[in-house]
Amino acid sequence: MSITVENITKIYGSQKALDQVSFSINEGEIVGLLGPNGAGKSTLMKIITCFIPPTSGNVEVYGNNIFDNPLAIRQNIGYLPEHNPLYLEMYVREFLEFVAGIYNLGKQTKQRVEEIIELTGLTKEANKKIGQLSKGYRQRVGIAQALIHDPKVLILDEPTTGLDPNQLEEIRQLIKKVGQTKIVMLSTHIMQEVEAICSRVIIINSGKIVADDKTENLHSLQKSSNQYLVEFNKEIDTNAIKQLKNIRDIIYNGNNTYTITSQNDTDIRENIFKWAVDNNLMVLTIRKNDNNLEKIFHDLTSK
Ligand code: ADP
Repeated sequence: MSITVENITKIYGSQKALDQVSFSINEGEIVGLLGPNGAGKSTLMKIITCFIPPTSGNVEVYGNNIFDNPLAIRQNIGYLPEHNPLYLEMYVREFLEFVAGIYNLGKQTKQRVEEIIELTGLTKEANKKIGQLSKGYRQRVGIAQALIHDPKVLILDEPTTGLDPNQLEEIRQLIKKVGQTKIVMLSTHIMQEVEAICSRVIIINSGKIVADDKTENLHSLQKSSNQYLVEFNKEIDTNAIKQLKNIRDIIYNGNNTYTITSQNDTDIRENIFKWAVDNNLMVLTIRKNDNNLEKIFHDLTSK
């Protein structure tokens, strides 16, 4: 195993951010760490990259563990923290040379900086100040600095947050390109992000792993229930709907529209229509929400 995370628990004061988290990662994997805000994703990444210690447990990266060989681990890992802290007054090339200096790249510095500028698509921006760049290009600089010492593992904390759709697509392509030769682990709270980039997904909620599987198997994680988007001609009494047979849950979305979930794999449309007629209501729209990935994520993380 290239990365082994073993029974990691992290407690901040009285807040348990991670609770007995364990998994391993092999070479060739692009792993998405998926979870809602506050799930513990950043904390886990900071522990793997040796920025903070766990309360208990251990992490091994290519044979080195976080307590005995943190420097060796940092040599093997490139890390882009959340919010991508950069020196806005520095020029792109100057900044990357500065980071190369931190890693003691010595004589290789110039060549490595040029290679990384090309790899991350920064050639045209290399002589600009970082502060002049768009958010998408700043993310490229963040990824470039994380790659400068040619680490075996790249860890990216929410790398696409705040990007517009074009920038998002470009950064996803860049991450996939890097993932051809390195282990990549990225965090996100967006299911589609995992689908677009990752070969494997680890879903984390309240500090615990609730799912860990190949991305292509995500659909089989779904619980057996159906979900319908229903629009009535006016607001309804949600408690009355809950009394109907085979209805598990109803959520009001505004505009007289509701998301209604069935118990088990039942079709509840007929029940809803009959109830509406009996109560002098009209159903204007009823649409099955195909057990999509958002719903799986919701099911797994809404406990
Ligand atoms: P995520 O990255 O999934 O949003 P975090 O790892 O940032 O989650 O946070 C997990 C939990 O730990 C949250 O409840 C958060 O408030 C708490 N937490 C994170 N960092 C600290 C800290 N330095 N001190 C106290 N609590 C923290």
